[in-house]
Amino acid sequence: MRTKYVVVLGSLLSGLGKGIVTSSITKILSFYGYNAMPMKFDGYLNYDCGTMNPFRHGEVFVLDDKSEVDMDFGNYERFLGRDITGDFSLTGGKIFSTIISRERRGDFLGNDVQFIPHVTDYVINKIEETSKNHDLDVMIIEVGGTVGDIESSYFIEAMRQLALRHETVFVDLTYVPKLDVVGEQKTKPTQLAIRSIMQSGITPNFIICRSADQLDEDVKTKIANFANIPRENVFDDHDLGSIYELPYHLMLQGFDKKLLGSLGLQRSKFGRKKYNAWSKRVERVSHRWSKSIIVSIVGKYTNLHDAYISLKESLVHAAAEEGVNLSIRWVESEELENAGAGKIVSLLGGSNGLIVPGGFGSRGIEGMIKAIEYSRTNGIPYLGLCLGMQLMSVEFARNVCGMKGANSTEFNRNTRYKIIRLMDDQKTIKYKGGTMRLGLWPAKIKHGTASYRAYGKGLVYERHRHRYEFNNAYRGRLEKAGLKISATTPNNMLVEMVEWKESFGIGTQAHPELRSKLEAPSPLFISFIRAAEAHGALA
Ligand code: GLN
Repeated sequence: MRTKYVVVLGSLLSGLGKGIVTSSITKILSFYGYNAMPMKFDGYLNYDCGTMNPFRHGEVFVLDDKSEVDMDFGNYERFLGRDITGDFSLTGGKIFSTIISRERRGDFLGNDVQFIPHVTDYVINKIEETSKNHDLDVMIIEVGGTVGDIESSYFIEAMRQLALRHETVFVDLTYVPKLDVVGEQKTKPTQLAIRSIMQSGITPNFIICRSADQLDEDVKTKIANFANIPRENVFDDHDLGSIYELPYHLMLQGFDKKLLGSLGLQRSKFGRKKYNAWSKRVERVSHRWSKSIIVSIVGKYTNLHDAYISLKESLVHAAAEEGVNLSIRWVESEELENAGAGKIVSLLGGSNGLIVPGGFGSRGIEGMIKAIEYSRTNGIPYLGLCLGMQLMSVEFARNVCGMKGANSTEFNRNTRYKIIRLMDDQKTIKYKGGTMRLGLWPAKIKHGTASYRAYGKGLVYERHRHRYEFNNAYRGRLEKAGLKISATTPNNMLVEMVEWKESFGIGTQAHPELRSKLEAPSPLFISFIRAAEAHGALA
């Protein structure tokens, strides 16, 4: 079958949840048995997300193949339950670096290289090539940013041309505000936005409206009139209890039938079983259970929850699996830095579990170490992710082995006890982009450990993104004092996981949160949630 395309545009403002809409559309098509995959375009000139600050841009998501991509890929994978490859991520940086190197090679000899046709043709070719390589029935292309941004103008032109060559449907995600004073949903911003899309030569086939409350029927009519589309092609996407409810919410409004109709696709292959399995999971996420737990996340980017989105979702998946209500307490690690015992209790007390997630740079590190100590000495279940594993080892060296000032050389190069340090091959690195230990790595887990019990097997694969490693010179001393090295790389060269003996505490050098899916929660998170529940869940 020739690949068909759905292009998802956003109008008015970013942050409306275009990634969730794209994930939902892809999911819906997969219920109907189609091989559908999302492709994301981001207009920035970074080659990838690897060098971006999560505080500004949200989490950097890592794929199996080492690609460092936009956090929307996390949503795609969590919804679809499939692992995605880096060729589904297209950025301004990737596009222009290829075009310029081709120009230098002489591919365009005699021509001036132009946005149209050279850049637009390249974009279309890349999209066609990716669809072909993955044998896709439908590709859903999410255009990052909003229509009207300079960064995406040539890409939108490419989408207009794509529609001339292939069966293509355009979906616009817009925002319908409600002014408190008048209590009325306002369509004017959307009217203006649609006008601007139309100026690009594109008429959206479907308009999905984000709003706080359910969309009024006459609002739908108004928007439809302005967009030259039937009223039934305007859909409601008001604030739902959980993001995972959106596929069902759209289907309830008949979006699936309309979309498949527009693409000329059959509805006969609907996989009822697949759909029911997904729905059951979604119901568990939204269900109010009889038990509740509080998980504290102690990090340095806690003011921007998007920086920890995969972590948050992994907890949601595991809590749904275990049947427990989850509430997350975000603790800014800097606040713990100079805190006395009383303040520490006020910030962390009552937690059923505590997590120190990944991070870079020295701000807030001492606060995280204090939180880990609090957790270890009070028997609060702990999960350390990447940096959280490194600091778990540092805390243990300092407070159990008496190695005063023990640290990672990332934070103190001259410490006497370099518990975490750079591997030799990282010391000579000049280019920061794409040079960390990235992507999927195997770990061999020792029998009889909590880590083994969590995974239920001895060889596991998780995604990585870090430069520093546990210093093998300290393995013996830390182990002797009671820190279990529960997993290493299969060649035993690198420490992958450590754990406490006295209470539940596991640190992993990997990022298991990057592989958790709604329908396949991370085993490590499930085991952490279980331990948290056992540590006095509130009934
Ligand atoms: N900053 C640490 C390192 O580079 C940890 C990275 C992380 O937590 N992802 O090794």
